Amino acid sequence: MTITTPDPAKHKKAKALKPSSRRPAKELCSECGLCDTYYVHYVKDACAFIHQHIAELEEEAHGRSRNLDNPDDWYFGVSQDMMAARKKQPIEGAQWTGIVSSIACEMLNRGMVEGVVCVQNTKEDRFGPMPVIARTPEEVLAAKVNKPTLSPNLSVLEQIEQSGMKRLLVIGVGCQIQALRAVEKQLGLEKLYVLGTPCVDNVSRAGLQKFLDTTSRSPETVVHYEFMQDFQVHFKHEDGSIEKVPFFGLKTNQLKDVFAPSCMSCFDYVNSLADLVVGYMGAPFGWQWIVVRNDTGQQMLDLVQEQLDTQPVMSQGDRKKAVQQSIPAYDKGVTLPMWAAKLMGIVIEKIGPKGLEYARFSIDSHFTRNYLYVKRNHPEKLDAHVPEYAKRIVGQYKLPEA
Ligand code: FAD
Ligand code: SF4
Ligand code: SF4
Repeated sequence: MTITTPDPAKHKKAKALKPSSRRPAKELCSECGLCDTYYVHYVKDACAFIHQHIAELEEEAHGRSRNLDNPDDWYFGVSQDMMAARKKQPIEGAQWTGIVSSIACEMLNRGMVEGVVCVQNTKEDRFGPMPVIARTPEEVLAAKVNKPTLSPNLSVLEQIEQSGMKRLLVIGVGCQIQALRAVEKQLGLEKLYVLGTPCVDNVSRAGLQKFLDTTSRSPETVVHYEFMQDFQVHFKHEDGSIEKVPFFGLKTNQLKDVFAPSCMSCFDYVNSLADLVVGYMGAPFGWQWIVVRNDTGQQMLDLVQEQLDTQPVMSQGDRKKAVQQSIPAYDKGVTLPMWAAKLMGIVIEKIGPKGLEYARFSIDSHFTRNYLYVKRNHPEKLDAHVPEYAKRIVGQYKLPEA
């Protein structure tokens, strides 16, 4: 149940908690930041890894939860519109074309919100996350591009109440947004807007270093990377050059433990509780993928509509065989020689799943892997932690014995 009564006495008591008694999700904690604030006393209800209640929160945020008779709802969540889009004039240095930053800037420019929760980077480290409440478009733009590590976005929540802000936009990934939705009514806001991105395979800062060191030819010059729809990781380097490494050539045996335990246990890839989701995986290569979940999301998208080229979403191919074959290969940590990985990448890109079918491919591959991970490492949590829609997705495949 979502909490409804603010309780300042509990806030005070929570402030006195020792750091050691915080983060009750223990090794599954994704560092969402809630436990760095006095809202920590809601953690047992709010934490995505302690109390999974996506269906109930969907009902509150969107007026309905996923329709379990509709496989599109299993995969993409509650939606009222979906499209591929890109900015006519991309923002230089954004992760994709900068649709997220553009919406946030418009909301500030038009006075719809007084602040935007987003993530800049620390002075010392371009990938070190530094959550802030941006009050100007310049501060929003300073947060463009992914910090591809766990980021304590909700650590700034106390500042909202203290600042007296009444209208706020929060940008974040699924686990952050689940905890946010659960404490939303405690923040004293008149209106909360939520702009989400999909998220998968996130890592601690140390894990990110291991991934870069193991995979890139020049880890220290990487400024940006993405797992692309052409089945390759694209690394952009400081000099503007692009390095491509096929998924099938990743050193899976060395990388198996690199993803954070939270992200190996996560079933909210598509950010079910955001009003509007902006990613890329359901769109053709070079385009962004937009999912409008409710009227608030539509209102946010309308602000930048004139800045965008759009096209309908498409779906092509059949992912199921490829997913089934990848399950035991990943489980055994198989790594192909680079020539074979490149060849396989070229063939799959030509005949493989595209558009929404690529998104389903990615969701299936991650949910089957994560289901096995939870079954093996936290069997007592399996039933309650895995949402019904994810059980239906995983149920389409034959999994190895636990
Ligand atoms: P920009 O305008 O560049 O803005 C990026 C925004 O992301 C900024 O506002 C910043 O505050 C926020 N941000 C940066 N780092 C973090 C973080 N660690 N936690 C929370 N917020 C952050 N999309 C897919 O379709 N499939 C995926 O598998 C996928 N994985 C992702 C994994 C991570 C860790 C993140 C952060 C995003 C992922 N995305 C994924 C989303 C995608 O990479 C883009 O972020 C999205 O399409 C927006 O692009 P943009 O150019 O509009 O964003
Ligand atoms: Fe707290 Fe967030 Fe960690 Fe859960 S994931 S224990 S809410 S910091
Ligand atoms: Fe959070 Fe899931 Fe992303 Fe990990 S993969 S950071 S748990 S949304």
